[in-house]
Amino acid sequence: MTRRKYVVGNWKMNGLTSALNEAQAIFAAAKEHPSVDVALCPPFTLIGPMIAAAPGAAVGGQDCHSAASGAYTGSVAASMLTDIGARLVIVGHSERREGFDESDADVKAKAEAALAAGLSVILCVGEPREVRESGGAIDYVLAQIAGSLPDEFDSTKLAIAYEPIWAIGTGLVPTVEDVAAMHGAIRAKLSDQAGSAAGQVMRILYGGSVNAENAEELLGAGDVDGALVGGASLTAAKFVPIVAAGAKLG
Ligand code: PEP
Repeated sequence: MTRRKYVVGNWKMNGLTSALNEAQAIFAAAKEHPSVDVALCPPFTLIGPMIAAAPGAAVGGQDCHSAASGAYTGSVAASMLTDIGARLVIVGHSERREGFDESDADVKAKAEAALAAGLSVILCVGEPREVRESGGAIDYVLAQIAGSLPDEFDSTKLAIAYEPIWAIGTGLVPTVEDVAAMHGAIRAKLSDQAGSAAGQVMRILYGGSVNAENAEELLGAGDVDGALVGGASLTAAKFVPIVAAGAKLG
């Protein structure tokens, strides 16, 4: 089964309108690598301006609320993202699971709301350092998938991002063998939970300190279909080589 490589930038809480030229440069360079799907998820405030600055580009949110509308001050509904032209949303990032107490059930509800609104979803999972050190990483991540994967979904519209929490923004990365073992276990779990056809179609991204130097090795690991990139997605100079690494492998 050939799955297209998918490289997604998560700008987190970074970026003013002055950063839109970086997004334009990223999407322009991505056109040179048509075998790779490239997307950027800037802060909510930049989604509309980024779509206007790079028409046709895949731009998305970093979170959405599970409700369609209502008294949820500060939150954004999935349909609001669709309404302004967003195509995807990240749910369950560890910075939201940890910082905003989001449970697996919350993440599942967000993913279902996003899919219902017509968005593609990147559903994040990943273990803390102590769980990795105790040898329980695979069980921990598979339990997160059991609790947060929607019951029914279009497998072309839902990707999993495996992001070990201890690797995010730290410069630390798991070994390629550990990444391949985790991604293989995730794919088996997806096949078990959603059916073997879905398990083969769904893309599984690796995230955590991906950069120009390690991208080819990480993207080349077994069952790795792309990357979710934080810090190195903020500039074209750092992000485009990761896209190019995906193209080389794809
Ligand atoms: C992320 O936050 O999704 C991420 C992977 O960050 P970084 O690439 O900076 O580790």
